[in-house]
Amino acid sequence: ATPLSVTIGTGKGAQAGVLIRSATALESLHAMKVLILDKTGTITEGKPTVTDIWPRDLDDDSLALIAAAEQNSEHPLAHAIVETARRRSVPMLQSEGFNAVAGQGVSASVGGHTVVVGNLTMLKNQRVNVAEDAPSALMGQAEEWASHGKTPVAAAVDGRLVAVMAVADAVKDDSRYAVQELKKRGIEIYMITGDSRGTAETIARQVGIEHVIAGVPPEGKAAKIVELQRDATVVGMVGDGINDAPALAQANIGIAIGTGTDIAIESSDVTLMSGKLTSVVTAIDLSRATMRNIR
Ligand code: ADP
Ligand code: MG
Repeated sequence: ATPLSVTIGTGKGAQAGVLIRSATALESLHAMKVLILDKTGTITEGKPTVTDIWPRDLDDDSLALIAAAEQNSEHPLAHAIVETARRRSVPMLQSEGFNAVAGQGVSASVGGHTVVVGNLTMLKNQRVNVAEDAPSALMGQAEEWASHGKTPVAAAVDGRLVAVMAVADAVKDDSRYAVQELKKRGIEIYMITGDSRGTAETIARQVGIEHVIAGVPPEGKAAKIVELQRDATVVGMVGDGINDAPALAQANIGIAIGTGTDIAIESSDVTLMSGKLTSVVTAIDLSRATMRNIR
């Protein structure tokens, strides 16, 4: 690659809000055959809100316990729940012994009660008998929420299921268009997420992605990249979160959402300042134009 064309290419990228770190990154973008997109914060806005609660008349005391357990969590789902409690002006209680299990949820002791909030794996591991406590109608309800792309979050107090909340995170308005344009350029698109299959597949369908890798534990994303790299293709990954950093570093080309975490940005070859997926299309077109000039 001639230094001049690379300088021009990266310069044009910077003008368009696409920061390309090296000449090698520009070349990898050009050769990329497979692109893996993180779901939360990459395809979706990453600003979830609680839209439904079971039971509908959940009392303030239970909501206060749940919010207290979540207040020390960095997870966007936790922020959504704390926000709901705040809106209802529920008092913020102190918690002790806060414990976060990455990819599952949190537990804490609040006012002498043991509170567990998270997905079904989290509740089962904390010995909450979900099947016994949950009316079968609730399981149907949770599935229905998932079929709308919402994440059901369950909460237990002293070993008993007390609430399930539906948390929705809107798809970014350009995600569907970006996926379509990437496919037109011959790139195979995958979605990867720690969220459950039902929720993930709905979001994938909304944006036109067929390949879904769901229920991935936080440390599992990089391993999935290695698997895809076995087919000897150049694999790219777009992500924003702390969990995404190892996968971004493992990918042949790591692409960070500029509004995401610092660690994701530091682990990447390309940063999208706007956070929009259409910027990936811009980056690819730029790399192709640059490589054409070089040859
Ligand atoms: P993502 O791919 O969205 O970053 P994570 O690996 O962070 O997924 O989390 C996977 C799942 O674990 C979430 O969908 C949620 O069900 C559960 N979870 C993780 N942290 C929390 C939390 N603080 N509160 C509730 N649920 C959580
Ligand atoms: Mg994310």
